[in-house]
Amino acid sequence: MIYLDHAATTSVCPRAVAEMKKCLEIYYGNPSGAYEFAQQCKEKIETARKQVAKSINASKDEIYFTSGGTESDNWALFGTVRACRYKGKRGRHIITSCIEHHAILNSCKALEKQGYRVTYLPVDERGVISLRDLERAIRNDTILISIMYANNEIGTIQPIDEIAKIAKKYNIYFHTDAVQAYMHIPIDVKKSGIHMMSVSSHKLCGPKGTGFLYISKGCDIEKFIYGGKQESNMRAGTENVPGIVGMGAAVEEGFKNMYKKNLKTANVRDYFLSRIENEIEDVRLNGAEPGNERLPGNLNISFKGIEGETLLIILDMNGICASAGSACNTGEPGISHVIESIGVPKEYADGTIRFTLGEENTVREVDFVMDILKTAIKVLRE
Ligand code: PMP
Repeated sequence: MIYLDHAATTSVCPRAVAEMKKCLEIYYGNPSGAYEFAQQCKEKIETARKQVAKSINASKDEIYFTSGGTESDNWALFGTVRACRYKGKRGRHIITSCIEHHAILNSCKALEKQGYRVTYLPVDERGVISLRDLERAIRNDTILISIMYANNEIGTIQPIDEIAKIAKKYNIYFHTDAVQAYMHIPIDVKKSGIHMMSVSSHKLCGPKGTGFLYISKGCDIEKFIYGGKQESNMRAGTENVPGIVGMGAAVEEGFKNMYKKNLKTANVRDYFLSRIENEIEDVRLNGAEPGNERLPGNLNISFKGIEGETLLIILDMNGICASAGSACNTGEPGISHVIESIGVPKEYADGTIRFTLGEENTVREVDFVMDILKTAIKVLRE
């Protein structure tokens, strides 16, 4: 198998597996218990909290463990608007972008049904929002700006520091979905001025069903899940101890030599791109050029006149894992909202494939994929 779908999920690193195994077999106590054994389990969670907090220069009481990126995104949005309503503040307007993950977009749609107003900022052909558009969209009643750090389909990185500055200038909360960016871009939440940030564990060689929401101190956000007093009385329910501990271990491992690993991934990605561009006609790279505005492993390519789903089946038959343009299970057929938003022409848009590389992918694997890809495209175009 050649795995080129790292933006969908990653394998769990051996250290995370080993730590998780200990939590399943030895430290199985409920961290809420008062006795020593339970407290040992609680200690394990607190170690993970420190590991995660350190990675983004947060303090450990600003980290709230969740069930993943989707829950973190939902919490940031619903939690902020509820706090504003409950505390009697004015404010019914949210600003986001049109290329967000559905965890944000569908939350916004739900909020619109409840009477909130949402501005969906357009993006340019690279997938970047305009700071002028952002500033123009701000109203007296704007309570939240939520813009993703990096896009899951085309890998475009947004000017997060500049967005945070604008949010600060107008005294508006700023949330970023960093599910794809974290571990590929160094993030300092304090330096950047981010109020809330969503992260998911299964994109960073940790287990599935775990993640966290960073909430900066002083941020007025309503709790999301009601019940017991776990997570500082902000998110109820017995913690997913193995998941959280596995994520903490994966974070610590992942940040070792992060630059080197990302550089290696980018080099293999660039080799892949140059071969596609040189050896296959009528192709289009979607998103920003490789460099600072694009995630190191992302390659989103449209092949003119090709049915993307058919190409994916051929790749799959040859043991190659990749995704179509719309990489998420939204149940919505057709061209993805991201590909549409960056204006990919129809004759290209249907044939969009996302390859997302990880540090273990090699030039030899790319060579194999190129052989299959070239033959498949030739046959499909005949
Ligand atoms: N946001 C982005 C940008 C994502 O790529 C994903 C995962 N596809 C999510 C949120 C949701 O994360 P999770 O799978 O942990 O719910």
